Amino acid sequence: MSTACNEMSEHHFLCSICLEVLNDPVTTPCGHNFCKTCISTCWDTSTTSKCPVCNQVFSTKPQLKVNIMMRELFNCFVFYLFLSEFSQRLVTCSLDQWFSTFSCRDR
Ligand SMILES: [Zn+2]
Ligand SMILES: [Zn+2]
Repeated sequence: MSTACNEMSEHHFLCSICLEVLNDPVTTPCGHNFCKTCISTCWDTSTTSKCPVCNQVFSTKPQLKVNIMMRELFNCFVFYLFLSEFSQRLVTCSLDQWFSTFSCRDR
């Protein structure tokens, strides 16, 4: 799993229903990820349970469990974003400033 962060891109963490970052990610049997509330609402309001992405129909409503791995990957991704933003900040701010303030946040 150590290389997972490098292979991630933001769209892995976007819900196809609300187009926001996944909140309590659940994975359907076809392998697509949605927010738990989004997919639940989607299935509650329709007579068939199907995947909004690939239209695979599930004869019985699949059990939705929060995908722990997705959540951990997501945390990893957030950390990665934080690191890259942090290093960009280092580049854009002069070293002198860095050493005198230890932070470029307010500059
Ligand atoms: Zn959603
Ligand atoms: Zn699907």
